[in-house]
Amino acid sequence: MEYEGQICRAPMERSSFMLPIMVGCSYNRCRFCNLFRHLKYRELPLTQIEEELARVKNVGGNPKKIFLGDGNAFAQKSERLIQILEMIRQYFPECEEINMDATVTSILKKSDNELEAFQKLGVRHLYLGIESGLDDVLMFMEKDHNQEQAYEAISRIQQIGMVYDAHIMTGVAGKGRGLENARALAEFLNRTGPAHVVNFSMFLHKEVPLYQNILDGSFAPASEKENLEEERCLLELLTAEILYDGFHDFIRFRVRGKLPQDKEKMLARLDEKISHTTETNIYSYVQGECPSLEKCDGGDVWR
Ligand code: SF4
Repeated sequence: MEYEGQICRAPMERSSFMLPIMVGCSYNRCRFCNLFRHLKYRELPLTQIEEELARVKNVGGNPKKIFLGDGNAFAQKSERLIQILEMIRQYFPECEEINMDATVTSILKKSDNELEAFQKLGVRHLYLGIESGLDDVLMFMEKDHNQEQAYEAISRIQQIGMVYDAHIMTGVAGKGRGLENARALAEFLNRTGPAHVVNFSMFLHKEVPLYQNILDGSFAPASEKENLEEERCLLELLTAEILYDGFHDFIRFRVRGKLPQDKEKMLARLDEKISHTTETNIYSYVQGECPSLEKCDGGDVWR
């Protein structure tokens, strides 16, 4: 199948068979996100999805893991999602897990019976954009949930045997609030116990509503150094068993490992990086449908 848009999935899904069942994100409102902003959301016809399953089977494919794209695939109507899951089982009965992105609200809209049906048909990992531990930040960024709703949604999927994984974003609370966010997020993650935490760190785009907030002064981005300090504080406070993977694309830094056993090594790596990072903001921005990355060299990239 010709892939439309940008492939976006957690690193743990890099070896999965990526099966698009829709184009774009049905929510598409998070202020910082430009992944699918240029695409008109639409569901792909079931015949097209089946053709792709048949194509992969005909070339000898027998995937053990399938990732359903694009953003927020779990928000599909339950009947349609069940039809797709049944098709997958029919073509690939040996498939061990079917994973996808979900929003908290998309989970809350499903009944317990529906959640159980998905689980029986192989749905295992749901990747949730938790982003922040602070309700005012979630509201500002127009995420579709608050903490209370996230606790409820996660508890419901865990009770029926699905696994929850958290996407977070250091820097999301803005300049001067990194440590406050880290403390709140640590409490949330320790209580909810995600299997994986992926920190994509703040990614600044020119073509998202957040850019206007930066221009009008209602959002001040944190420096890369503050983002690293936020990540350090978060890792220090995490007590749950978690596979952690953190990116800082524009300063080419990544810290990953198994918590709690790798914590000291990860903290030492962060300490080393923080000691060599200046306070000067090093922002990067992305623009264009096909993102071309440009790096600022100390000037004001926002003009
Ligand atoms: S739900 Fe995910 S893909 Fe959709 S707008 Fe928000 S961050 Fe982007």
